[in-house]
Amino acid sequence: MSSSTNAGFRLSAQQERNWSQEGGEAPAFRAECEVLLDGPADTSRLRRAIQGVVARHEILRTVFQRQPGLKLPFQVIQEEASLTWELSEMQVLRLGLPVLCADRRTLQNLIAEIGLAYAGETQPGDVLQYADIVEWQQELLTGEDTKVGRDYWRDAIRKLDVTSVLIAFELAGEGEFAPEVVTRGVETAVPVEVLLACWLALLSRLTGRSTVVAGCEFDGRKFQELEDALGLFAKFLPVQCDVQPGMPFSALAERVRSVLAELHGWQEIFDPGQMRPLPVQFEYAELPAAQQYGDLKFTVLRLEACAERFALKLSAGAKRLDFHFDASRLSRDTVERWAGHYQVLLAAALAHPETPVASLPLLSDDERQQFALWNQNAADYPRDRCLHELFEQQAVLTPELPAVRCGEISLTYRELNERANRLAHHLRAFGVRPDSLVALCVDRSVEMIAGLLAILKAGAAFVPVNSDNPKSRLAQQLSGAAALVTDSKLAALLPEFSGPSVFLDRFDGHSQNASNPLPLAQPDSLMYVIFTSGSTGVPKPVGIRHRNLVNYAWFIKSRLPGEHLHFATVSTLSADLGNTCIYPSLLSGGCLHVIPLDVASDSSRFAAYQKQHPIDVLKIVPSHLSALLETEERRGILPRKHLITGGESLTWPLVQRIRQLGASCEIWNHYGPTETTVGSLMLRLRDFSGPVIPIGRPIANTQVHILDSLRQPVPIGVTGELYIAGDGVTAGYLGQPALTAERFLDGMYRTGDLARFLPDGNVEFLGRADDQVKIRGFRIELGEIEAVLARHPSVRQAVVIARAD
Ligand code: AMP
Ligand code: MG
Repeated sequence: MSSSTNAGFRLSAQQERNWSQEGGEAPAFRAECEVLLDGPADTSRLRRAIQGVVARHEILRTVFQRQPGLKLPFQVIQEEASLTWELSEMQVLRLGLPVLCADRRTLQNLIAEIGLAYAGETQPGDVLQYADIVEWQQELLTGEDTKVGRDYWRDAIRKLDVTSVLIAFELAGEGEFAPEVVTRGVETAVPVEVLLACWLALLSRLTGRSTVVAGCEFDGRKFQELEDALGLFAKFLPVQCDVQPGMPFSALAERVRSVLAELHGWQEIFDPGQMRPLPVQFEYAELPAAQQYGDLKFTVLRLEACAERFALKLSAGAKRLDFHFDASRLSRDTVERWAGHYQVLLAAALAHPETPVASLPLLSDDERQQFALWNQNAADYPRDRCLHELFEQQAVLTPELPAVRCGEISLTYRELNERANRLAHHLRAFGVRPDSLVALCVDRSVEMIAGLLAILKAGAAFVPVNSDNPKSRLAQQLSGAAALVTDSKLAALLPEFSGPSVFLDRFDGHSQNASNPLPLAQPDSLMYVIFTSGSTGVPKPVGIRHRNLVNYAWFIKSRLPGEHLHFATVSTLSADLGNTCIYPSLLSGGCLHVIPLDVASDSSRFAAYQKQHPIDVLKIVPSHLSALLETEERRGILPRKHLITGGESLTWPLVQRIRQLGASCEIWNHYGPTETTVGSLMLRLRDFSGPVIPIGRPIANTQVHILDSLRQPVPIGVTGELYIAGDGVTAGYLGQPALTAERFLDGMYRTGDLARFLPDGNVEFLGRADDQVKIRGFRIELGEIEAVLARHPSVRQAVVIARAD
């Protein structure tokens, strides 16, 4: 027996592990229980019973003393106990010990011993003292006989994928361990392998990983002799599981059952010091049945022990699920949501165990309703009017206000409308009809705006063409066009065009009628076509209808209060980015400033322009803006009222730089693919302060869905693919029904962007699911370049990557 008072005994491996975390002294590392005592409790008898038990077990009288210079303390056994005990008025006995002395099983044993002593029953004879067991355990961990077991663990630990699976959900910066708990009920008793399989399935679904690992509690008492012993025996063994999405849940539970059985056999040989504690843990926490001791009934209400730091630990038992979490790493809201997902998943797994793991539901009805609510944004807009008709209305309202300006040339609404009308009548004579395409290849100028309005008024849709594009792309764009609007200088740069052409520099509109042509196009007719990069090597023509754009422009107009604002468009017409300014301006009596590319890319020229002609609203790509902010004149390029960025992620450092310049403008992050019309989500920065700037919420009459690979909605915080539905969804890829069917499903456009919902309903952009990239705001499928390279006879295979430098 090891009952001398002053000798020190070494720590067990479990105690060492605990000690190595914050010196084992964090107040959280406790073993505690609450026992309801039913009946006439005799307090002094109870006290004597407890004293008797303490006298029998050294570990209840053990303190830990560290010699100067040593890393680890020794266990020192004392004559008197420092056990704290308390009997509240409610007849609840609370026991609390440092976890260095007790695990959950120990608490149960302790309660039983106290009960027996209280009832005056004789205790079983010999007591195995903890310090002696430690000696024997150390032999197991080092002895020759157990080498096979150690090899088993070395191998198992090497194969673990221990990167924290929770990273995406964690709060910034890990602080002091601050355990808290979220508790939920379960209806029936559930076998441990089912509880753990659900836990692993949930982890896999939350993180999108198929290999998940959780520390799982084993009681360390495989040998019968240890069953009644007191002390810290429990260990958390790593349970790693491959959760294949297609696997039936029952197969996962079976797999878990066999892993648990295998680990059970090797648990004595596991040395917890070999690896860091796993962030996610699981323990099967069945409470003991109520027990009658003499005239007192002991009912355990709560029984907990925490020996290892965790981020998240599920303590699951009959009727009760405790989700313990470290509040310095995870927020209560997050854990409450996960607790809900776990309950939904568990209920479904129990009801339909053959369901593939990936198909098990996670969302409660409330959460589904929440998503629907976030998408409720119906708003009126002139859905039965074409864009140019709304412009014509505006021209009646504000005929003498400036409508468009480029450099020193400007046109009023009346002048712009009349100029467009003359050209429109001319184009009508070519026989263009609704859904005819008219290529528009002109420099950035007031003529460009007049030209595009003319094409719309003629009833057709315009196709913006950049003469500096590769010949094959130009040929593709021109091949579908019924007519071409250009000038003689640019026409020379274009491939042969066989249809009718209008050269604006030679066009004399005076003979043409200046009044509005009778409407031909309908709100469903095409308004413009933009070619986006296609991974097969051929760009895809996206057809945007009038109604798509009217809804968009109407929304933007409503978000930018103020009359007759000055809008600037600084990007090419052949990307939809500039549309954020063009149409809201023309439909609201604003003045649209068309900034030529050489001015838009030179901050001193752009600032000088704005000195003369101040701008209220500027839409720009973040990388373009960053470049402009590099120079001396940076303050002068910022708009007076609204800065809208889009096309690429907006970052806090860029926002800070803008704010440091003392800019008073509102900043907006705007997101959207061409396929759903310019921009589909929007965020006013003033309304947000989280660590990453989200892309906001859907604009009016637009719904966003974040779905997994089975097209089920993913929970809040979980990464999925962004789908967009509503009035912005365009006609798809013209002449490419197969490709259109692939990306436009059930009224939704599948963006290929990864995203997640934040708890406040904002959407965070998380990159691409494929290898599309953005270079200075231009959308490029790396596959398109690869396909083109591979066409060269001496190239067998090509890989293209985008690099920041
Ligand atoms: P585009 O069709 O040229 O408008 O490009 C659309 C793509 O650009 C989206 O699918 C995103 O990948 C990216 N994108 C657009 N706006 C944003 C934004 N605000 N933040 C991050 N990425 C964006
Ligand atoms: Mg866009």
